[in-house]
Amino acid sequence: MMDIQITCKECGSSVDINPTLDASKAQCEVCQHVTPVKFTPAHVEGRLEECPVCSRQDFYKQKDFNRKIGVTLFVIAAILSIWTYGISLVVLYLLDVFLFRRLAMVAICYKCQTNFRSITNMNEIRDFDHEMNDRIVYSDHDFKGKPLSH
Ligand SMILES: [Zn+2]
Ligand SMILES: [Zn+2]
Repeated sequence: MMDIQITCKECGSSVDINPTLDASKAQCEVCQHVTPVKFTPAHVEGRLEECPVCSRQDFYKQKDFNRKIGVTLFVIAAILSIWTYGISLVVLYLLDVFLFRRLAMVAICYKCQTNFRSITNMNEIRDFDHEMNDRIVYSDHDFKGKPLSH
């Protein structure tokens, strides 16, 4: 089942929702703001083709990695390295290779920043593209799911 995490426009909290054909809104538990959503049978099957919040088809994928945890671990390892002669940094590096590189990917909507996890077509989603991001966010360009071409 696809896991969707919407960012509430009013307060910035994340709102979790699973796609069902009869769901038409997602309510923020913090400020009660309601975000309208539109699911298609593809969403229910786990395929990401269209954003249920903004109806765009432009997404990028990235490692589903919690930056805060990564930075905290690095600071701890750096401090410990004084007493461990750098071994803690080696351990952190190995952790990074074996643990974090295997983490699942998350697909993100350029336009509204909605996050999609456990989708079946993650291999069709491309990596983050700065130029696409700028054109979608600042010029409101709609690529309709096509890659940027020059
Ligand atoms: Zn809210
Ligand atoms: Zn969107």
